[in-house]
Amino acid sequence: MSPDQLFAIFALLLGMCIGSFLNVVAIRIPAGGSIVSPPSACPACGSAIRWHDNIPVLGYLLLGAKCRSCGGRISWRYPACEAATGLLFLGIALKTGFSAAFVPDAILVSLLMVTVRTDLEHWIVLDEISLGGTVAGLLISLVPGGLEPLGSLGASAGAFLLFLLIRQASLLALRRKPGYVVPPEGCEDDGEGFTGGMGWGDIKLAACIGAFLGPASTIVALFLAFGSGAVTGLVLMAFGRSRRVPIPFGPFMAAGAMAAVFAGEALFRAYADARWP
Ligand SMILES: [Zn+2]
Repeated sequence: MSPDQLFAIFALLLGMCIGSFLNVVAIRIPAGGSIVSPPSACPACGSAIRWHDNIPVLGYLLLGAKCRSCGGRISWRYPACEAATGLLFLGIALKTGFSAAFVPDAILVSLLMVTVRTDLEHWIVLDEISLGGTVAGLLISLVPGGLEPLGSLGASAGAFLLFLLIRQASLLALRRKPGYVVPPEGCEDDGEGFTGGMGWGDIKLAACIGAFLGPASTIVALFLAFGSGAVTGLVLMAFGRSRRVPIPFGPFMAAGAMAAVFAGEALFRAYADARWP
């Protein structure tokens, strides 16, 4: 077995363990809890989870999706997050081989996994993830061998400004509507007084994605995010959902950025080299 193959297996197992930790982050930070203590407990009965029941994916399967103490159902989201993170880490390892290039991609994918969960479940993108991620991405670009610092900073600032522009433009359009009342600052993101505009969480997440991916892959990531978001919106409307019911945009940004991690450069080159009629 080659070192790269050995590393790929290690990455899969590491990803499943990190996915387990990301579950804790996605559940506890929005609830205002600590991510280090107390140890994992059943949300229904509060009994501590034994180490062998806490093994990623396997623990869930062996328990039959039920708590050992109270028999309460365990959400499929836990093993799904663990399995998805494991497979993403495996994919990154197969792309980068045993090299330092694995690290930034693995960090970005981890930040995005938390975002998918918190945005779908609570309509929030955590500042710890988006702002912390932006700083992390900019700092990592200072390490030679990967993305250039200027590319990281440029893509981060560019994505931030683009999203800010979209927000201001949509707010401007909304204010022209008769009967529109300007919501207090910060209220447009909570799902209650949602205005349909771009939330601050998405704007900060765009800066984070830019810092990690650099210009070419960020363009691909945002293109895929807007494309998949628009298609999903149209499909939901075709199935009778009101266009006034908003859908969180974070998961689409996460999906676009994850795709760009694997194929961003290739897609950008294919687009740039294509001969348009
Ligand atoms: Zn229980």
